[in-house]
Amino acid sequence: MRKPLIAGNWKLHKTIREAVELAGELKRDLAGFTGADLLVCPPFIDLVPVAEELSGSSIALGAQDLFWEDSGAFTGAVSGPMLKEAGCSYVIVGHSERRAYFGDTDDVVNKKLNAAISSALTPILCVGESLEKREQKVTKEFLRKQLGADIRGIGAELISRIVVAYEPIWAIGTGRTASPQMAGETHHFIRELFAEHYDASIAANLRILYGGSVKPDNARVLIAEEDIDGFLIGGASLKADSFVKIARYSIM
Ligand code: PEP
Repeated sequence: MRKPLIAGNWKLHKTIREAVELAGELKRDLAGFTGADLLVCPPFIDLVPVAEELSGSSIALGAQDLFWEDSGAFTGAVSGPMLKEAGCSYVIVGHSERRAYFGDTDDVVNKKLNAAISSALTPILCVGESLEKREQKVTKEFLRKQLGADIRGIGAELISRIVVAYEPIWAIGTGRTASPQMAGETHHFIRELFAEHYDASIAANLRILYGGSVKPDNARVLIAEEDIDGFLIGGASLKADSFVKIARYSIM
């Protein structure tokens, strides 16, 4: 049985004061909520104050990225051990915005995945096709290639520590959501890819989140799909009310 994971990606939003305020609201409104695992991923600078605010709650903390080296002359970078000490248990890797604006190739994503696992962080590996690929009807071929490159060389004993987020690029921040059926089918395909690369039990236990304009009014129909195990939420995670509603709808 896969427990849902409801994760908020705050992207480049929230100053320290705003982040602590939102974390406080979530802590209050989701006190005692046990039906799903909960996670927020604020900007780096907010991590420590948000960790302090969330202390005593069941809401986990994650970062939005990491560098693959632990330390060294890498100006501006933040490493896995640093995130761990800051209170993170998760880290997003390979988000399409990192791939598009910061040049994260599949090779880079692969190194970051390995670094996250070595630091005992749970990576949330984001994969997803562009509108062009979807329209060309080559989504499966694209995902097979992207995922294969991202997880290359990661053995079965380590791969069970990751979470995958399927995020069709055309659905991120656009208000366009994949239909439940389209998302469900693609999640099923991703699960099959893990069965091919590893085995049926790893595939069956893998949590696959959906991301792309998830809102309170589409959460219920999406989570009803058998292979959708939770959400990675951007815009709707920036307000306590919508994040809390999505969390609650995900267990009904
Ligand atoms: C995301 O940031 O991963 C995301 C899916 O954003 P949004 O929910 O705003 O589409």
